[in-house]
Amino acid sequence: MMTLEHPLDEGSRTFLKEVEEFGRTEVAPFADQWDHDEQLPREIFTKAGKIGLMGMVAPRKYGGRGLSYVTAALAVKDLGKQYASLAMDIAAHNALAVGQINMFGREDQKRAYLPRLTSGEWIGAWGLTEPNAGSDTGGIETKAEPHGDHWHVNGMKHFITTGRVADLVVVIATTGRTETGKNEISAFIMMKDQVEGVRKIHTYGMRASETSELRFTNSKAEILGERGRGREQALTVLDRGRISIAALAVGIAEAAFDRANSYANERKQFGHAIGNFQAIQWMLVDSAMELEASEVMTLHAAHLQDRGENTTKESAMAKLFASESAVKICDRSMQIHGGYGYSRDLPIERYLRDAKLCTIGEGTSEVQRLVIARHVLKEAKPLKLAHREHREANVDPMRPAGGNAQQQPGVETGRGS
Ligand SMILES: Cc1cc2nc3c(=O)[nH]c(=O)nc-3n(C[C@H](O)[C@H](O)[C@H](O)COP(=O)(O)OP(=O)(O)OC[C@H]3O[C@@H](n4cnc5c(N)ncnc54)[C@H](O)[C@@H]3O)c2cc1C
Repeated sequence: MMTLEHPLDEGSRTFLKEVEEFGRTEVAPFADQWDHDEQLPREIFTKAGKIGLMGMVAPRKYGGRGLSYVTAALAVKDLGKQYASLAMDIAAHNALAVGQINMFGREDQKRAYLPRLTSGEWIGAWGLTEPNAGSDTGGIETKAEPHGDHWHVNGMKHFITTGRVADLVVVIATTGRTETGKNEISAFIMMKDQVEGVRKIHTYGMRASETSELRFTNSKAEILGERGRGREQALTVLDRGRISIAALAVGIAEAAFDRANSYANERKQFGHAIGNFQAIQWMLVDSAMELEASEVMTLHAAHLQDRGENTTKESAMAKLFASESAVKICDRSMQIHGGYGYSRDLPIERYLRDAKLCTIGEGTSEVQRLVIARHVLKEAKPLKLAHREHREANVDPMRPAGGNAQQQPGVETGRGS
């Protein structure tokens, strides 16, 4: 059952005020330059760490801020409005690297790594994707073998956010074969000096984020959690990561919408503000509606995480809806801005480029649909009930609308109750 209540406590409200100020003063004025340079200054992560942005949900005893997922989603959204590349790096650091160590690490690992990650002294990356294993994560080829008291990892990782600048990488690798002949997958913690940063991958959007290709050659690593449980760990981590990608999409879309709305009121053509034209109004209405629905779905999934529920379906739905809506909202914003939207004088074209990533990173839209389909089909109620209702009502359930059309809703009632 969907609930829209997610009240924020005093600590969350204070944090979000700090994030808003950080975004307005430390991020927004530099976003164009960073995007042009395709690079973020290291100090911005240190500054983010000072206000708790590098360990939002992590427990206080490991230097985290101990906030709710709802608050973290609102923070990513707010930062996403200012500069999406930075918001994405911070979201990945929190949900993936910090998240996996916090959820599955041994106590000594948490004590050793989390305080440096949550303070912003270190950046954490997360390596699952490989050249030959994207959506099909079971096909990873990076191998880890025991070597004394640690492991040696050999292989490549592709498209790793902050990969080359990270101080620590959580690496997903195979550790052998299962009884059914599939890859046995485990997770590892690897330090920067063991990672070869092959190159920055230049991307369409999210340009200042250091999307990286990484190579491991007999790279020393320590196992994270139980051997053979790496895939389950990664999927659990992604349930949370996808909420932050949804929040990021909402932030980008809100920035694009706000500008389009203001522009529609101010730009005059044919003697009127263009917002008087119905064509523009309809674009604004569709965007406003999709934006609101995206935010509701994102906060709903975050709220369920806060209640400790499984959110695989809700996270995938929020990410899918919010990211695809964000692309449409940014595209409409560009249309409303006309040639000015297409120019690099305004950030509209950047919003559109950045929003597109949200339909790909942490699982493409197609993969989200597969995940959702699996859940939806599993939730199907047995048809028997519907047939019985029809029999009892003495109507033919196969008869097309028109004849017994008024009975059709009975099928729905049978399925839904
Ligand atoms: C900027 C950026 C940052 C990233 N950051 C990270 C990171 O930090 N860590 C990390 O591990 N990964 C990261 N990724 C990788 C990202 O998660 C993958 O790109 C994504 O999962 C898709 O994998 P792929 O690119 O190999 O595409 P493929 O899996 O090859 O997919 C190609 C196309 O086929 C479709 N497709 C594939 N399988 C199916 C199917 N069964 N049914 C229907 N359609 C299907 C896909 O949807 C897509 O349209 C990042 C990617 C980008 C672009």
